[in-house]
This record gives sequence, structure tokens and C-alpha cells, in this order.
Amino acid sequence: MKTLPAYTPPKVSAVSGTPNPAWLASLDRLLVLAPAAELQAALKPLPASAAAIREFTRLQPSAGAVFHSALTTPQGLGLIVGVLPPSADVFQALTVAGRVVREAARSRPQHVGLWAPDRTQSAQGTDSLLSAVLAEIESKPQRKRVSTPVWRPAHIAIAGPVHRAHTVAMESGAHLARWLTQLPPNVLTPTSYRRALTTLAHAQGWGITIYDERALKKCGAGAFLAVSQGSAARDAALVHLTYRPTKARRTAARAPIALVGKGLCFDTGGLNIKSAKSMLSMHGDMGGSAVALGTLLALTEAKHPEPIDAWLALAENRVGPNAYTQQDVVTAANGTSIQVIHTDAEGRMVLADTLAIASQSKPACIIDFATLTGACVVALGDRLSGIFTNRPALRDTLEAAGQASGERVWTLPMPEDFDEDLQSPVADVMQCLIDGKADHIYATRFLSHFVHPDIPWIHVDLSAAERSGGLAHIGTPVTGFGVRFATTLLTDPHFNQRIHQRSDRR
Ligand SMILES: [Zn+2]
Repeated sequence: MKTLPAYTPPKVSAVSGTPNPAWLASLDRLLVLAPAAELQAALKPLPASAAAIREFTRLQPSAGAVFHSALTTPQGLGLIVGVLPPSADVFQALTVAGRVVREAARSRPQHVGLWAPDRTQSAQGTDSLLSAVLAEIESKPQRKRVSTPVWRPAHIAIAGPVHRAHTVAMESGAHLARWLTQLPPNVLTPTSYRRALTTLAHAQGWGITIYDERALKKCGAGAFLAVSQGSAARDAALVHLTYRPTKARRTAARAPIALVGKGLCFDTGGLNIKSAKSMLSMHGDMGGSAVALGTLLALTEAKHPEPIDAWLALAENRVGPNAYTQQDVVTAANGTSIQVIHTDAEGRMVLADTLAIASQSKPACIIDFATLTGACVVALGDRLSGIFTNRPALRDTLEAAGQASGERVWTLPMPEDFDEDLQSPVADVMQCLIDGKADHIYATRFLSHFVHPDIPWIHVDLSAAERSGGLAHIGTPVTGFGVRFATTLLTDPHFNQRIHQRSDRR
């Protein structure tokens, strides 16, 4: 099993307008997505569609349904049609597209056509179908004598409007995030993760600096090191990646936006050890770092005009004679001392130093991603993720990016008076509360001690990182949630304008 996915996406081509006979003749399956009210009118212009229309009228499929039909063309082109709810949003379009594509995958067609008749020309339907196909055919890590066969079409052909480059880039970043998150913990260790990042950085033209434990000690990163000291291997590190657009693309010499990710390759809970059931999915506790990395890859592939940094905190939370303990007092890189309350609250420890060190580079904005708290899952479930920000005025822009990407986010409160409960008799701040109530809010308040207040900051608690049965167009439990949201947000001109406006940064 390789640390990085070996994968070449198939050829994706696009033609404008309604499918013509020559285009249809080149396919062996056509996937269609449209609202029920528009389906009949949508199918009409297709040649030899009379039987399909009769079938549709007979079935009267409800919103969300998927049905099979065929065009009575010489090759008898099979149709798989997904019925959208009226005025579907992106999440709903992706969900139905996922059903259509999983249905198509069963017969493994080689030449797949995608068509979403779209009066608004917003390309939402075609982009959803394209996203769903790319997610379905991506490689998944496995080590089996007889490996599970994957559907690998030779060609994806799109009719009508599509944001092809953007969608392909976004799914390629999400694929990387999902691949890494699914890797077994003996395959993805901080050592192999660092090696993979070096390989990727060279391939993508990113700058890379690895702060190993010795370098972290020099930075005074006592919170990060408290966690990593429990591992037998001395391989924990903070990895700093930099993407700089070429001069021709650069809009202005602006400060980079910093993406921060929690990269716990395995979390046992430490001395306050987890139960078998809670520990089972803890190889995915590096999901935040994979989302930050996947976003960096998506923006690189999309030739993003703004500079971006990624800061990935790679470590493990292990049990051992040197593991950090309750009531330890440690000092983070910005000089803030911390009273340790619970060793399973290790995510906020490594993030504390990562946020403090990232702040020193004076980025235009920090966005951090972490599978941080069970409390956020209790609060919101696993269909959307919680966000917090020290710039309440950004709330609408953030939630709009959630809607536009199909990765829905909800802004949660972070009132300052919660800090009263984190006051410690022996240190500047307490790590968490022992009873764990509203832990997602206390975790955010704790983290805010390590972000310079001049820097706009968005904290994403990835409650939707994993969901049994998948989410939207993703059919597997590991969703890669966050890459689509962040890529959409960072390519929103309105967001960039606000972040780079000096007056807005207070
Ligand atoms: Zn933990």
C-alpha cells in the first residue's frame, strides 16, 4: 500500500448545448440529472427518446429517485436518470448525482456521458455529476490478494455548461484527503507522512520546511511536544508548505492565507485511554491535516492567484512511560502556560503551538481544520461541520461557501466569558474542563489564546469528517469534508477582498 494515491483521472471533455446524435453515439451510458417538472421537456430533444418519456410518465418518479431507461438509438443507449427536488441546492444535487453514479458503476461503462439540462446555465447539475463520477472512480487504499475491482471509465463526456477545471481540481484535492485519511496507522505514520509531503512538495513546486522535535523545542512548542513525547518514535513534526503563484498570475504581493491542520496519525487518548469502540477510527484523527493539504493541492491545480501556506501538525497520541499526564504544566510557543486536564484533548495541544507559530508569520487569515471534539458531533450531527470565527462579520460569507460547495457549515458561538471557566490556579489557561460539556466551544476559546487577535481566524471542527453510509456524493464513510468548502471559500472574490482589507482585520 502506497502513502500517496497513484491515479490518473480519465479524459474529461465538454461540448456546449443539447446532446447531438454524434455525441450520443460515442457513449455507452448517459447519466441525466434534472428536476421532475423539467424532465419530460429535457428528454424530448434527445433523438429516439419517445420510449424513455413514456417510461418516465408511467413511473412518475419522486424527487431523489433514480430510474433506468434507454434511447431507441441503434446502440440502444442506456440512460440513468436522477430526479432532483424542485430548486435543489448543491448538497441535494450532489446527493442525487451520487446515487446515479453508483447505479452506473455497477455496469462499468467505458464512455460515460453527463447531461443536466439547466435553464439557469449555472452548471450545478453537470458539476455535481462530474464530482460524483470522479469521487466514485478514485482509488481506495487496499492490500488484498484479489483486489476489489474499481470502475475506470476511459472517457467522461459532458454536454452543456460545466466548471470543468475547478471541479476536477477540487475533487483531486478531496481524493488526496480521503486517501490519506483511510490509510492504516501502520502505513501513515508521522515518518511516512513527512516523506509523502516532501515528494508532493517537489512534484507541485511547493516550498517545504519540516520542524522536527528538535526545531520545535527551539520554538518553545511545549504543548506540541507534551503530546509527541509519549511516542517511541521521535518522528513528530510541524510541516510548513508554501504555494506561491507565478508572477504572471499574482494579483498583488499579499500576505498568504494560512491553512492549519490537526494531523494525529493515531490517537489512543494517551493515559486517559479511549475504549476500543472510540479508538477504532482514530487513524482518521489526521483528517484535518489531510483537508488542509487537499485544499492546497486543489488551489495549486486550479492555478490560484493568491499565496497559500499550510501548517500540518503531525504526531501520535500514544501510551508510554514518557506520555504526558493530567496536571502537567507546559508552555506553548507564544509563552502561554497550560494546565493539562485530560490527555485525550491532545488536538488542541498540538494546534495551540501550530497556531502560535503560524501567527508569527503574519498571515492574512488563518483557517484551521481538526477532528477536534465529540461535542461538535453531538451538537450538529455528522451531516455538517461546525465553524467558529473571531470575525463575526464573516459569518454569512462562510455559510454561503458551505451552501455553494455542498459542504454545509454552521457558525457556533465563542463568547469570551467562557474563558472564566478555563482560568487555572497554576497556569495561564486550563486545557479543557473535565466534565466535557460544550467542549467544542471551550476548545475554541482555548485555541483563541494562541491566535494573534489582529489575524482573522476561522476554526473548522470537522463533525462531518466521517459518516456511516457517506455524505452527499460520497459513498464511503470517510467524506473528505472540508476541501470543497475551503476551496470554494478561498476562490470567492468577496472573501478575499474582505480578508485583505486592512479595516476589516480588526
Ligand atoms: Zn484525542
